[in-house]
Amino acid sequence: METQAPRSRRLTIAAEDGRVSGPEDVPSDAPLALRGLTVSYSEKPAVFSVDATFPANSMSTIIGPNGAGKSTLLKAALGVIPRLSGEVFVFGSPIENARNRIAYVPQRASVDWDFPATVMDVVQMGLYRKVGLLGRLSGQLTTRAQDCLDRVGMADFSHRQIGQLSGGQQQRVFLARALAQDADLYLLDEPFAGVDAATERAIIDVLKLLKSGGKAVVAVHHDLSTVREYFDHVFMINVRRIAEGTVNTCLTTKNLQATYGGRLAAAHLAQLAVVEGAG
Ligand code: ADP
Ligand code: MG
Repeated sequence: METQAPRSRRLTIAAEDGRVSGPEDVPSDAPLALRGLTVSYSEKPAVFSVDATFPANSMSTIIGPNGAGKSTLLKAALGVIPRLSGEVFVFGSPIENARNRIAYVPQRASVDWDFPATVMDVVQMGLYRKVGLLGRLSGQLTTRAQDCLDRVGMADFSHRQIGQLSGGQQQRVFLARALAQDADLYLLDEPFAGVDAATERAIIDVLKLLKSGGKAVVAVHHDLSTVREYFDHVFMINVRRIAEGTVNTCLTTKNLQATYGGRLAAAHLAQLAVVEGAG
């Protein structure tokens, strides 16, 4: 089911005060909106002409098979990899003006765990934006980092080397780093991949707290069996946008088949789909 407004090709408008606002079809309260986003590493696009509008006050997820462009989409949404075309809006503003409102938890597999850093170092990286790269962290900021570690149950690990943590502990530390940034939009790439059940529970509890505090959460998620339990809004991608909307309207057999193709068994599909026929 398509719930999205038509694609806009209007140019962004600079107001007299210099503030740049997005196209009219981008709601100013939408934490993240993509318009015509195409990203290519080589000739073949990894993300092609994607429109998406992630709504306010929602826990949103991005799902799709391996290689569907989920991580690429998040990185382009962060503005850390170049777009071939298209626009990214964060709370209605072009990404270029809104980077400091986003915190990002990368896919764990993409991080170099041999990097010689302690848990405290990693979390304090999230605070550099507040003090400037050359600024010394004040005691107050160290306390803040420690507080964020506490929120993810990692308070006792601050001096541990990151490479010496379990997968679940590493994921918690990266979540603590994101919390330290005190962002408005949290982008997470497969936060539950390779973590134990206790860590999954701890992370989802933190995300729910963020949501109840008015923050936006957009997470790439690999486990279809928990989409309904964890998320309100779903964006389904396989290079192109397949579907977008509430979990209840979107997670249909038809949409799952279009997204995953033959990679999901029919029985599995029937079990996962929440609405038959729609979409
Ligand atoms: P997903 O996160 O959905 O598994 P990715 O966004 O990581 O997918 O990758 C999408 C496609 O882009 C894949 O075909 C992948 O091989 C390719 N790709 C990802 N990163 C790079 C890169 N740095 N250089 C070249 N190709 C890449
Ligand atoms: Mg990925």
